[in-house]
Parts: sequence; structure tokens; C-alpha cells
Amino acid sequence: MAKTPVLTPRADDFPRWYQDLIAKAELADNGPVRGTMVIRPYGYGLWERMQQDMDARIKETGTQNAYFPLLIPQSYLAREADHVEGFAPELAVVTHGGGKELEEPAVVRPTSEMIINDYFSKWVQSYRDLPLLINQWANVVRWELRPRLFLRTTEFLWQEGHTAHATYEEARDFAARIQRHVYADFMENTLAMDVVLGRKTVKERFAGAINTLTLEAMMGDGKALQMGTSHELGQNFAKAFNTQYLSKEGKQELVWQTSWGSTTRMIGALVMMHGDDNGLRVPPRLAPVQAVVLAIKGDDAVLAKVHDIGDRLKAAGVRVHVDDRTDTPFGRRAVDWELKGVPVRIEIGPRDLDSGTAMLARRIPGGKEPVALDSLATLLPTVLEEDQALLLRQSRERRESRTAEVSTVEEALEAAAAGGWARIPWSDLGEEGEAKLAEQAVTVRCLVAADGSVPDADDAPGNVAVVARAY
Ligand code: AMP
Repeated sequence: MAKTPVLTPRADDFPRWYQDLIAKAELADNGPVRGTMVIRPYGYGLWERMQQDMDARIKETGTQNAYFPLLIPQSYLAREADHVEGFAPELAVVTHGGGKELEEPAVVRPTSEMIINDYFSKWVQSYRDLPLLINQWANVVRWELRPRLFLRTTEFLWQEGHTAHATYEEARDFAARIQRHVYADFMENTLAMDVVLGRKTVKERFAGAINTLTLEAMMGDGKALQMGTSHELGQNFAKAFNTQYLSKEGKQELVWQTSWGSTTRMIGALVMMHGDDNGLRVPPRLAPVQAVVLAIKGDDAVLAKVHDIGDRLKAAGVRVHVDDRTDTPFGRRAVDWELKGVPVRIEIGPRDLDSGTAMLARRIPGGKEPVALDSLATLLPTVLEEDQALLLRQSRERRESRTAEVSTVEEALEAAAAGGWARIPWSDLGEEGEAKLAEQAVTVRCLVAADGSVPDADDAPGNVAVVARAY
């Protein structure tokens, strides 16, 4: 008899598979208000690991963490015209407090440019106060009309960086540094995700920015997901908030700014990038649990052994969990760990004790083999690094094999309809072509330079548009 699949197979219905996986791997539940999300402990554990890793990278750039209020006076938003226009449809507004109508309604932050700039204008006096490099870890609210767990929720968790610099060049370079050395490094080396770095077209730019840098990844179904953005804000907010500094030459100058964000969406990306029909596959460098040691039966010798192996692996620097819940059938526990995507399972039963071996089950390449108990502590770090590299390779191969080089709008639409990406010279597409694609829900994910680097300008000669359907 064929085994009933644990999840809807990906090939049958990718969105359903995604929902199934999130429920069965115990990552999140829908919240009671539409679009909101309860992040369950295993899902939150992934977020905590992301936070730790990113936070260290952010601090390496000299950026410090701070915290600003959730509520922003509504009038602040009106100060930067493009920004308010971009965000108005997504705002949640508090009109009552303490049982009374408020004199001035407060907006729940959709992002914090406004409130942070109000304080930047007070804190920045002279060139000695620059650069000012601030990050905050927070929740934000954007009233999303088509919410999806992790990918697009009404309330999400993120980090948002906000910086002020003395010159245009310094701000530009800082935004690029965040894109490359914080976001791309983290996504490639920790999340094992291939990402394409580029700049957004004018149409796709952040409300109030002069340039938006982005990282785009191809999901398992060939659609694109924007993984994070780093914006050059120019002097737009500096003008709105009059953020000026006294230069070395004794002149009052407006600052140049950046802002950049990455969110709990990355957990959704992890699922759609590395998941398979048996569940999630978590890259070992990210995994809250890298190896689980399972007792097959509850006899004393087995229980003693699983704890002994657990201790030895912990001492070898492996993040390990010992599963000795032998009152739950072994098969069910094995399926649960597989769903959660723990990279390695070490299964130990009475027969293994006699032979001095354990079954090593590898979630990422798949397969099971017996290994000597004494070799586990030396073997595992190598196995985990191999699996990490394999995930990145698979991710890159998928994007490369499913990206078509095209030169017309029709061909680009065909590639997207077939579940892939297309690369088309911007000179063959232009804003007119971009509008035609949009009619079919295909968007320009980003512009890249001919040599694959991030272009300096929207219309630099040789720019190539990467187009796809997107989440
Ligand atoms: P932004 O401030 O609009 O540039 O957004 C920063 C990043 O947040 C984007 O690059 C997306 O990856 C992510 N993002 C935007 N909206 C949502 C949402 N509703 N839920 C989760 N992540 C989001």
C-alpha cells in the first residue's frame, strides 16, 4: 500500500503544501485578526537564530541598536509626500485611547523613517555626529490585503536600519555595503540561499527613496521573493525634518540617508526555498537543532547511551537535542523531526548498542547509514558543513537552470508562465515593457549590470532586467 503523504505534494499544489508545512512543522498559526500570525516556538527559534546572526553582522558595520515608539503622530507622515502616498493605504490608525477620541490620531508604524528622523534632526548638530548609524528590532504593521503566513503578514517582525551621512557617496556606499556584506552574506552563508543583487526600477522603488537595492531569490516553484531591501533616501527626509549639520567648513548642510530592512518573511523563504515533500530542510548553520539523538526504545541502556552521545556532540559544538520520549512511537517522532527539517537524526536502539553503531539519517541529501558511535562527534561537523554547501548549490542550480535569456516581452511572459525567470536587456524592455508585464502580474524584480554587479544608475548602458512572477 502506498504511504499517505504527510503534506500535500509540492507538484500538486504548491501554496497548499506551503500552508501544510507551516502547520505540521509547528512554525506558525493564523492570528485572530486577519493577516496576523502567531509564531510558534520552533518558528520563533528560527527567527532568533536569524536575529543573532544578522545582529552581529549589523554591528560589524558600526551600527548600534536603539528603540523607537510603536505609535507615530499622524501628522508626521504627511511631511514626506511620496512616503505618505506610498504607505497611506496600508496604515492602521489609532483614533481612541483611554476611552476618549484622541486630539491627534496616532499611526501604528509601518516603518520608522518618520519618527527616527524627528530624533535624528535633534541629535545631529555637526559633522562630528556623523555618520549616525542606528538599527532597531521591532514589529511593524502594514494592512495587507492579500496576507500569507510569514511572506506577507499585517504585523511582522523585522530589523530596520536608519543612517545619516555627510555626503551622497558615503550614504550610497553604506546602502550597498548593507546589501552585500550584511544581507547577501547572511543569506548565502547562513540561509544557504542563492540571491540576485540588483536595484529596483523607478516603479518598484521604496516610497521616498532615490534608489532601492534589493535581493531576490527563486523559490521552489520558480517564483521570486524579495528577501530584503536597502534604500538610498537621498536628502528627502532630511529636507522634511530639517536634519542639518555644521560642516568642517562651517556651513549648514543637509544629511544624506539610508534605510534598510529584512523581516520574518525570511522564514517563509526558507520553507519555499529548501522545503520538500517531507517537510522543511533547515541549513545547518541556521538550525536551532542541528542533530537530534533518538532513543528507539525506552530501555535503560539505550536511554543512557542517547544522553551520552548528546553530551559528546554538545561538547563537539553541535546544537543537539535528545529525544527520549519513548512513549510516543518512534516512527511518528522520526516523521516529526523530518517535517521540522533537523539536518541530522541519530537513531539508537538495543541492537545498535551491541554493534557499537547508530543509524545516521541525513535530512538534506536524504538516506540513512550505520556509523560507529565513537566516530559521531568527529563526523558530524563535516557532515553538517557538506549539507550546508549542498543546499546553496541546489538553490543556485535551480535559479540558473530556470532562467531564460530573452529579448521580447512575449518571451519574458512565456518564461514566467512556465515557472521561471527571464533576463531581458533593459533597452529592449523599458518602462513601456515593464507596464505590459505588470498586466500579467509579472514584475521587474531588479536591474543588474551586464557583468552581474549592481548598476550605478537605472538606465546605465548594458543593464539587464530580471523579471518574474513574485510573492
Ligand atoms: P520596505 O521597508 O518596504 O523596503 O520592506 C523591507 C522588507 O520587508 C522587504 O524587502 C520585504 O522583504 C519585507 N516585507 C515587506 N512587506 C512585508 C510583509 N507584509 N510581511 C513580511 N515582510 C514584508
